[in-house]
Amino acid sequence: MKDIDSILHALPEAISHTFGKGKPADYIPALAEVPRDRFGMAISTVDGQDFIVGDAKESFSIQSISKLFSLSQAMHYAGEKVFERVGVEPSGNPFNSLSQLEFENGIPRNPFINAGALVISDILLEHLKSPKQDFLDHIRRLSGNLDIQYDERVFRSEYDHGQRNAALAYYLKSFNNINHSIAQVLDFYFYQCSLNMSCLDLARASRFLANGGIDPVNDKKVVTPKRARRINSLMMTCGTYDEAGEFAFRVGLPCKSGVGGGIVAVIPGKMSICVWSPELGAKGNSLPGMHALKAFIEKAGISVF
Ligand code: GLN
Repeated sequence: MKDIDSILHALPEAISHTFGKGKPADYIPALAEVPRDRFGMAISTVDGQDFIVGDAKESFSIQSISKLFSLSQAMHYAGEKVFERVGVEPSGNPFNSLSQLEFENGIPRNPFINAGALVISDILLEHLKSPKQDFLDHIRRLSGNLDIQYDERVFRSEYDHGQRNAALAYYLKSFNNINHSIAQVLDFYFYQCSLNMSCLDLARASRFLANGGIDPVNDKKVVTPKRARRINSLMMTCGTYDEAGEFAFRVGLPCKSGVGGGIVAVIPGKMSICVWSPELGAKGNSLPGMHALKAFIEKAGISVF
């Protein structure tokens, strides 16, 4: 695996032309203030090795990458029933879009847009005794990092600027696709978005998706092999919102992004990857992050295709 290390260390230079071309999320001050020149990448292989470059150990706001962990936890508890309340089609629309809900009877297009994640949060509220703590424990266990915390300031700001998510939750409830109170659902959803993790934490936490649903470090089953395949499929088709086609075309890996600038990618049977740069492109995905993934798979010559 010496190659991985040298490819990784050559990446910041190889994608330097993309720095300065994107824009950090600015809908809340806590994200707008993150220094835009950060770049990190981490790789965790299914045989337990880690490779890192740049700011891979610096924590950032995971935002919508949390949707990966909430979906896998919901599938663990509710199995296929999850897909009676959330669809599996790419939306082709921005992550916070309301419009499709009206024509699809309040069934969000997929679990990775905000509407879908709000329903997933509602499902988890049914199954978890202490939802926030249980979710945090799940993430800490997967990443092997007990110091992971949520960011109170980001959490508060999500609330202050959460009108769109509140509208989605109310709208979903009008179709009876939310069972708990709007306050409970939003509180839990914003909590998930506000977790701080590093690239290394996220690469380790998503390693089970590269290993048939089993965490290779402790041999624990996180989800069944079939569910791991399904989560990977959904990442490929829906994980980067209305840029999923572009990601499939350029990167060709299952990916899940967040507006904090992180992107998790999976190479089934081999490794999980997390790249981070706060500079987002027009669709809310990290621009240097996308280019780094593309450069990595081209140089390493590995792909799912
Ligand atoms: N907290 C953000 C929101 O709910 C997460 C969106 C994202 O990362 N794409 O709008």
